[in-house]
Amino acid sequence: MAWAKDRLERVIEWENACEYDDFIDDSRIESILKAASAPSKNETLAVIKKAKANASKGAMLSPEETATLMNAQGDDLWEEIFSAATFVKEEVYGNRIVLFSPLYISNPCVNDCAYCGFRSSNKNMQKITLKPDTLKGEIEALLEAGQKRLIAVFGEHPKSDAEYIANSVKTIYSVKKDKGEIRRVNINAAPMFEEEYKRIKSEGIGTYQVFQETYHRATYEKVHPKGTIKGEYKWRLFALHRALKAGLDDVAIGTLFGLYDWRYEVLAMLYHAMDLERVFGVGPHTISFPRIKPTSNSDGFQSPYAVSDKEIVKIAAVIRLMCPFTGTILTAREDPNVRDEILQKCGVSQTDAGTNIGIGGYSENKDGNNLKKQQFSIGDHRSIDTFILSLVKEGKLPSFCTSCYREGRTGCSFMPLAKGATIKYLCIPNGILTFKEYIRDYASSEVKSIGEKTIIPKYLNMLRENLPQVVGTVERMIDGLERGESDCHI
Ligand code: SAM
Ligand code: SF4
Repeated sequence: MAWAKDRLERVIEWENACEYDDFIDDSRIESILKAASAPSKNETLAVIKKAKANASKGAMLSPEETATLMNAQGDDLWEEIFSAATFVKEEVYGNRIVLFSPLYISNPCVNDCAYCGFRSSNKNMQKITLKPDTLKGEIEALLEAGQKRLIAVFGEHPKSDAEYIANSVKTIYSVKKDKGEIRRVNINAAPMFEEEYKRIKSEGIGTYQVFQETYHRATYEKVHPKGTIKGEYKWRLFALHRALKAGLDDVAIGTLFGLYDWRYEVLAMLYHAMDLERVFGVGPHTISFPRIKPTSNSDGFQSPYAVSDKEIVKIAAVIRLMCPFTGTILTAREDPNVRDEILQKCGVSQTDAGTNIGIGGYSENKDGNNLKKQQFSIGDHRSIDTFILSLVKEGKLPSFCTSCYREGRTGCSFMPLAKGATIKYLCIPNGILTFKEYIRDYASSEVKSIGEKTIIPKYLNMLRENLPQVVGTVERMIDGLERGESDCHI
C-alpha cells in the first residue's frame, strides 16, 4: 500500500536523523538482573523500606533496587512488597480508583504484529472504521452507563490517520446528554510525527499512550515483521519523546507481557521512565502492564515467556514501588479473580469498567467476546455498577475524576503534586464528588446505600482530619449535586 510505503520511508528518514540517545542497553539490563538474582532477606527489606520512603520524596528506585525486588525470595517477602505497594499508593493518591472505558474506534491496520487480532494478515477480522454517527452512538451508550473518561484506540491505517483521530476526539467531546458528557479522552494510537501530535493536541486529548510491546530488540524484530512501520523499533522507542517535544502534556508507557522475560521488561520500562525524566523533566503519567490474550487468528500466541497469574500480580506491585508517583493501569484483559487480587494488593490507581472492546460494541450492548470484531479476548465482563459494587465493598473510593486535565494540572504542573504525595488532597475530594454524581445518576440501590452510608462519610472524615480547610467546599458541592448541579470539582 502506497500510504504505508511512503510513511515507512519517512519513518526511516526520521530514525537516521534521530539525535536521542538510546536508553536500552541489553547487556546492562541482563547483568543487573544476574547480579540481583538471589538477594538476601535483608537486602530485599532495605529496598522495601526505601520504596516506602520514596513515596513522598518523588524518587524512583534504581534499576539495581528494582531487580532486587523482582527477585525477592519467599512468600513472606512478597507479602511485605504487596503491603508496601498498597501503602505507597495510598500515600500518593489515596484509596481511590479512577475508572475509564476503552473505546475501539477503528481496526484496519497496515502492521502485522504476531500477537494482535488486527494484524493485516488476519482474515478473520471484520475491518471497521466508525463513522461520526456510529461513534456518537457509542458515546451515548457509554454516557448512559455512567462513564466520563475514556481511552480511544486505533489501528495504524490511512483510514485512521492523525486527522481522523483528531476529528474523532472532537466528535466525542461534542456529544452532550442530560446526565453529562465525556470529560477526558485519552488516546492509544501508533507513533506519529510531531506535526501530527500537534494536530491531535489541538482537539484537547488527555494522555497519549504507546506501549513498546517489548523492549528486547531481538524479540521485537521477531514479532513485528521487517518492512512494516511497526517493525521500526527506534521509531516506537522515541514515540513519546517526540510527543513531549511536540507539546503533548501527559504520556503513558507499557509493555505487552508474555513476549519476553518479564523482569527484563520491567527494568526496561524503568529506563524509559528515567530517560523521559532526564530529557523532559516529566516521567510517564501512567504505566500499563497488559498480558497477551487470545485473538481470532492466534490459536493462543505461543511464547516461552508467558506470564502466570502469580507473576502478573508481582509485576503490578513492583511497578508501583519502582515509580511511586506514576499512575498504574490494570485492564479487563484479566479475569475477575486476578483483577480483584491486583486491586487489593498492588496499589493500582486506574482501571476500566463495563468494558466492551468490539468495534461498535457499546451500542450493540452484547456481553461477552466477539473475536471477529475485537483485538483480543477480555476476561472481565462486569458492568460498571457491578464493578463499583466490588470496589466499595473493599472500602475503596470509585472516581470518575478528570479535574487535573481540565484545570491544567498536567505534565510539569502535575508532577510536583504526585511527587510530593499531595495529589491525594485533590484526588479524594474529586473522587467523592464524581462518585456522588454517579450515585445520583446511575447507581443501583446497593451501591447507593454503601456509597452514601459508608464510603462518602469515610472519605469526608479523612479529609476532615487531614485537610479541614477543604471539607466545607466539598460539602457545599455535594449539596449542589443534590440540587441537580453537575461536574463539581476542585
Ligand atoms: N496500533 C496502535 C499501536 O500499535 O500502538 C494501537 C495498539 S493496540 C490497538 C493497543 C495495545 O493492545 C497494543 O499496544 C498491545 O500492547 C495490546 N495488544 C495487542 N494484541 C494483544 C493481545 N493479543 N492481548 C493483549 N493485548 C494486546
Ligand atoms: Fe496494528 Fe497495533 Fe495490532 Fe500491531 S498492535 S497489528 S500495530 S493494531
